Amino acid sequence: MNKFIFVSGGVCSSLGKGVAASSLGALLEGRGLNVRMVKCDPYINVDAGTMNPYQHGEVYVTDDGAETDLDLGNYARFTQSPLSRANSITTGQIYKAVIEKEREGRFLGRTIQVIPHITDEIKGRIMAVAKEDPDTDVVIVEIGGTVGDIESIPFLEAARQMINEQGRTNALSVHLTLIPEVAQCELKTKPTQHSVKAMQEQGIQPDVLICRAPVMLDDPTRMKISNFTNVELKAVFVSFDVSTTTYELPLIFSKQGLDQVVLEKMGVAIRHANLKPWTKMMEQFHSRQGKLRIGIIGKYMELHDAYKSVYEALFHAGLANAVEVELVKVDSALLEEADDPETILGANGSSPVDGVLVPGGFGSRGINGMVKAAQWARQNKAPYLGICLGMQIMVIEWARSVLKWDDADSTEFNESTKHPVVSLLEEQVDIIKSGNMGATMRLGKSETLIRAGSHIQAAYGDKSIWERHRHRYEFANKYLVEMTGSGLILGAFTADGSLVECVEWPDHPWGVGVQFHPEFKSKPIAPHPLFKAFINATKLTKGKENP
Ligand code: GLN
Repeated sequence: MNKFIFVSGGVCSSLGKGVAASSLGALLEGRGLNVRMVKCDPYINVDAGTMNPYQHGEVYVTDDGAETDLDLGNYARFTQSPLSRANSITTGQIYKAVIEKEREGRFLGRTIQVIPHITDEIKGRIMAVAKEDPDTDVVIVEIGGTVGDIESIPFLEAARQMINEQGRTNALSVHLTLIPEVAQCELKTKPTQHSVKAMQEQGIQPDVLICRAPVMLDDPTRMKISNFTNVELKAVFVSFDVSTTTYELPLIFSKQGLDQVVLEKMGVAIRHANLKPWTKMMEQFHSRQGKLRIGIIGKYMELHDAYKSVYEALFHAGLANAVEVELVKVDSALLEEADDPETILGANGSSPVDGVLVPGGFGSRGINGMVKAAQWARQNKAPYLGICLGMQIMVIEWARSVLKWDDADSTEFNESTKHPVVSLLEEQVDIIKSGNMGATMRLGKSETLIRAGSHIQAAYGDKSIWERHRHRYEFANKYLVEMTGSGLILGAFTADGSLVECVEWPDHPWGVGVQFHPEFKSKPIAPHPLFKAFINATKLTKGKENP
């Protein structure tokens, strides 16, 4: 069985299309279907790897090292869909592939056009995901942007063609719109009517509507929407603002009958819905007690999406530890300027924290603020989790504070330092010279071997782990002897033993830095072991302080 569901959006962006598509995926999996998720991004960048996190949010990395849109992170958190390079399609990739084929003479002299060549390339890639595994039942394709955008047109046209070719029971259109509240009293359906009209102009009649609204809509409003949009009343759903967590959405949609209606429209026999993992997760949510304040020290603090997977993984770890994790976002530039980090992070500071997390990042802005945060956590015995750059910061801080190498640094920030304790991976030297910065980092999953007796070993309970990477710089091996001689613990290495993958502080409750990105693999129904251990350590440390 190969069915396709195209999820589009209208009126405006940020309606939660990715979360809605993911929730639908979770619900169909609950009905026993094998689901694959695909994101189509209308931008011309080939991938998200070179995009500024301020514009685009985090870059989500897949096992096979693709640098993709953050919606793939939503898919990973809500569904079991395998995600690779194939599941992230951009206009840039499509045009690049078509132009390369044209240069190779593969079109035999024909004129290359948006229709059919660009649309065929899009359809071919969606079909390839459907065919990857013969057991795939449904491919949910989220089309980025909003209907009416110039950039989205080829993707919507590809969807139209596929709906026509596959037949209506095999390919559905799910459209997301906004029901705004005007003057805080009146809910307006007109933008939704216009949005559906715009879809119809593209030749697509939505089968299902999901209306984003501040509250649940009453029946007369849903009836009005149904009437003006040609969408059956029972297929008009509401994604209202939730006060709990967006992870409740699968249950909210299921209560409204979304999965039932989608199965009916696809002509799939209705099977029992197993939503136990989601109901159990919500029970965990409601039984949390107390709060832990985790300081996230980074440089893209204004935009929540910039560290999306990290924030989500902390939330998941809170569920597993029955405690609410409060995110305390601290701009590292502030710490850099502060004379004493205690005035910010300490119990009487402006942003008191129970634990510190330094996430991944690039460029030198705010680095010394992160170093100060690491020093504060080490000296005050506050649990610390360093991710990628956050591990490199631990190494720099240790070299400066313990080995007294004041100028110790990463060559990313200071090329002429006498103590380059973090330096370019060997294979990166020529890449940097060539100036080819797209998709050229150390990317994707690889094996890490863990040393016994470390915190990381206790967290994973395993010797061999597979995690994803995205970096150019590394712990510099020429300092191995001095670093370990002064007490720094090396908790894990690459499988061939050549690169340090984890450092830990001695005589400290829990200070762990990893060169990889554990946050990409955490799910609310399966929190990541390293985040779980970090939050557990923070809870224990706080408990000791306030017995
Ligand atoms: N900038 C650092 C490097 O390239 C860290 C990268 C990251 O945190 N993802 O190695």
